[in-house]
Amino acid sequence: MASQLIDIGINLMHKSYNADRDQVVQRAADAGVTPLVITGSAERSSQEASAYASKFPGKLYSTAGVHPHDAKSCTPKTLDLLRSLASRPEVVAIGECGLDYNRDFSPRPVQDQWFEEQVKLAVELGLPLFLHERDAHPKFIEILGKYKANLPKAVVHCFTGNQYELDRYLRMGMYIGITGWICDERRGTHLRDLVKKIPLNRLMLETDGPFLTPRDMRPQPKEGRNEPVFLPHILNAVARATGKPPEEVAAATTTTTKEFFGIE
Ligand SMILES: [Zn+2]
Repeated sequence: MASQLIDIGINLMHKSYNADRDQVVQRAADAGVTPLVITGSAERSSQEASAYASKFPGKLYSTAGVHPHDAKSCTPKTLDLLRSLASRPEVVAIGECGLDYNRDFSPRPVQDQWFEEQVKLAVELGLPLFLHERDAHPKFIEILGKYKANLPKAVVHCFTGNQYELDRYLRMGMYIGITGWICDERRGTHLRDLVKKIPLNRLMLETDGPFLTPRDMRPQPKEGRNEPVFLPHILNAVARATGKPPEEVAAATTTTTKEFFGIE
C-alpha cells in the first residue's frame, strides 16, 4: 500500500472530468491519494463541488469560494450562497479566493473587494481559507493584515512566489500548497530551493488538476490532463528537493493536511 496522500486542490468539477469523474476519484484512491479536497472557484462550481462531495462522505471534501477571475460576477447574494454552503459537512474551507494581478480577468478594485468579503466570511465562520495569489503580494498581505487578530488558518495554494514572499507568509502563520509547478524546468526550479525552507507542518500537496500536469512526467497523460493519481509524482519532486525520504514527506504533509482542514 502506497503512503496516504491528500490532494488539497483538485478542480474536479471541471468539464474535462465529465466523462470519467467517478473513475478519477477511484484511480486516485487506489493509489493512496484520498481524501480529495475539491476546489470551488465560482458560485456554480462551489455548489457542484459540494453536491458531488456529499455523495462520498469522508472521501471527498470541498471548498466554497469565488476565484479572483470571477470576482466581477459576485453580488451580495454570493455571500449568502457561500455562507449556506459553508454550513454543510463536506465543505471544509472558504475559497478559492484571493487576487490575480497577472491575468486581471476582473478589475483589481473588484478583486480586492470580493477577496476581502470572503476573508471576512471565513473570520466570521472560523473556517480555513484556501487562497490564490499571483503578482499581487503587497495588496494580498494588506487585506489579510486587516484581519490579523482573528484570521483563521490559511493556505496559499499553488505557491509560485519568491523567498521574500514565502518568508512573509510563513511569519504570518500561513500554510503553503505546492503543485507540479515544482517539476517545471522553465519556471519552477526556484521552488526546489524554497521548498526546503517550508516546515513540514506548514506544507501541503496538490495537483491543481486538470491544470499544471507535471512537465517531467513520462509518459505524459492523454490530452495533457492532470489528475489526483499523479500526486505521488509531485511528492517525489518535493522529497528530492528537501532531501527527505518520500515516506516521511507523505506522512508529515498528510498529518498537516488533516489538522488544517479538520478531517480524518
Ligand atoms: Zn489558484
